[in-house]
Amino acid sequence: MSGCNEYDVIVIGAGPTGMTLALFLAQNGVKTLVLDKEEDVYPLPRAAHIDHEIMRIFQDLGVADVVESTCRSSKTYDFVTGDGRMLMQFDGLDAIGPGGWPVGNMIHQPSIERILRDAASKNSNLDLWTNCEFEAFFENDSGVAVVLKSGEKSVRLSASFLVGADGARSSVRRQAGIEQEDLNFDEPWLVVDAIVHDFDRLPKVNLQICDPERPTSCVLMGSGRHRWEFMLKPDEVPEEMARDSVVAGLLEPWGVEGAVEIERTAVYRFNAKVAKSWRKARVFLAGDAAHLTPPFAGQGMCAGIRDAANLAWKLVQFLKFGASDGLLETYQNERDAHARGYIQLAIAMGQTVCMTDIAKAEARDADMLAARAERRLLAPPPPLHLKAGFLSDSVAAGHYFPQFRLEGSCVVRLDEILGGGARMITRDVVGVIDDTYITIKSILDPALKPFHQLLLGWLDLHEVNAVLIRPDHYVFGTGEPASLVEDWKTRL
Ligand SMILES: Cc1cc2nc3c(=O)[nH]c(=O)nc-3n(C[C@H](O)[C@H](O)[C@H](O)COP(=O)(O)OP(=O)(O)OC[C@H]3O[C@@H](n4cnc5c(N)ncnc54)[C@H](O)[C@@H]3O)c2cc1C
Repeated sequence: MSGCNEYDVIVIGAGPTGMTLALFLAQNGVKTLVLDKEEDVYPLPRAAHIDHEIMRIFQDLGVADVVESTCRSSKTYDFVTGDGRMLMQFDGLDAIGPGGWPVGNMIHQPSIERILRDAASKNSNLDLWTNCEFEAFFENDSGVAVVLKSGEKSVRLSASFLVGADGARSSVRRQAGIEQEDLNFDEPWLVVDAIVHDFDRLPKVNLQICDPERPTSCVLMGSGRHRWEFMLKPDEVPEEMARDSVVAGLLEPWGVEGAVEIERTAVYRFNAKVAKSWRKARVFLAGDAAHLTPPFAGQGMCAGIRDAANLAWKLVQFLKFGASDGLLETYQNERDAHARGYIQLAIAMGQTVCMTDIAKAEARDADMLAARAERRLLAPPPPLHLKAGFLSDSVAAGHYFPQFRLEGSCVVRLDEILGGGARMITRDVVGVIDDTYITIKSILDPALKPFHQLLLGWLDLHEVNAVLIRPDHYVFGTGEPASLVEDWKTRL
C-alpha cells in the first residue's frame, strides 16, 4: 500500500510502452500495477525495428541480451525505383550506435513483448493483470481512483498517478478529454508477416520499392520472420486484399514460394497524430496514446519506449525523492519535440514512397537520383538531442551521452560498470558531495580504467571537468562537480 492509495502508479496497457514504464518504476521501488484488456500479448504484425537507444533501455531493464538473441540485422535500408535504381540509402545500420548497441535491430514485436512480460513476473513491486479493462478514472485529493472491469467484476483502485499507455485508440486519452493534432498522413497498407523456412532466398537488406504501381516495403524481422507491406489503391477492399490468394499474387514477383509461410496479415491506416496535451493533472499519456507515426522510419514503438524511460525517472524522483511537480511538467515538453522530429522524418519517407502518380514519381526519381549523385541530404536527420526541458544551462546539455563499449572476447559496456540512475563522471577525484541519488565516479576510479581514454576524450572535447547524466542517458549538464549537483537539486 502506497500512502492511502493501493498503488503509486497504475499503467493502462501492457504493450511495449506500458511494460517498459512499469518495469522501470518497479525496479526503483515504485509500487505499480500494469493491466491489459487482452489475455496475452497482441499477436498482429507491428514493429519490425528498434534502434540502439532502445537496446540500451532494454539493457537498463536487464533484458537486452535476450532481446538481442531474437534480432536480425540489415546493413542498409534502400529506397529503390520499381526497376531497382537506388534513390536513397541509409547505411551502417549494423554498426554500433551511440547507445552501445547496433544502430538498427530487426525484431518481432510479440517476441519482445513476451520478454518484457516475463521480466515483470520477477519483480515484487509490479503486478500485471490481464483480461482487465480500464473503464474510467476520477481525480481525488490524494490521486486518481480507477475503475476497471475484470471478468464480470467491477474493481475500483486508487493510485497517485495513472498512465494511459493504451495505444492509438486510448480510452484514457478520450476520458481525459485530450484531443489529437492531425499531422496529415493517412494511407492504407496491407502488412504481411511470414515465418521463414529458407533465408537464402530472401532479400538481405530492408527495401522500400518506390514503384507508383504498388509502393511496397520488404523488411527483415527477428524471431525467424520476414515482412512485406503493400500500399492499397483507393478502389481496393482491405478484406479482399488480405485473402491468401491475393497475398500469394502480391508475393509472386519476389519468388519466395516455399521459402516462407504466411503467418498473419493485417490492413492498417498509417497515420501521423500527436496528442495536444500529454498530461492532465495526475494522468499522463505515453506511447501510441500520445503520438502516432507512419512506420517508414521504424520509430513508433521506439518513441513510446523513450517516453517510458523519460517519464519513469521523473515519477521516481517525484514519488521517492520529493522532486517538484515542475519536473513532471518537463515530460511533454521534452518528448513531444523529439517524437515530432521522428514523425516528420517518417512522413518525409512516406511521401517519397507513397507516390502513385506516374509523372510525379518520375520527377521524384529524377530529383532523388540527382541528389544522390551530388550527395545532397534527402530526409531530415533524426533528432538525437533534447532541445529544452530539465537541463542545465551548459555545454552539451540535452545531448545523448554515448555508451562506450570495449570489444574483446566479450563486450563490456560503460553502463555495466557505471550502473543506472543519475550519474556524474568527473575528471578528477572529488570530495564527498551530499547527494544520495547521484552516483559520482571519477575517470581515475580503477573500475572505470578500461574506459579512461574514451571518457577523458569526451570531457576534453567539450572542455569540461564533469558531466551529469540523467537516468535516461541524456546529459543534464556539464561544468564543475559541486555546482552541477547543486544545480540539479535546485531545479528538482
Ligand atoms: C505495420 C506496423 C509497423 C510498425 N513498425 C514499427 C517499427 O518498425 N518500429 C517501431 O518502433 N514501431 C513500429 N510500429 C509501431 C508500434 O507497433 C507501436 O508504436 C507500438 O506498438 C506502440 O506501443 P504502445 O505500448 O504504446 O501501444 P500498444 O502496443 O498499442 O499497446 C497498448 C495496449 O493497451 C491495451 N489496452 C487498450 N485499451 C485498453 C483498456 N481500455 N484497458 C486495458 N488495456 C487496454 C491493448 O490491449 C494493448 O496491449 C509499427 C506499427 C505498425 C502497425
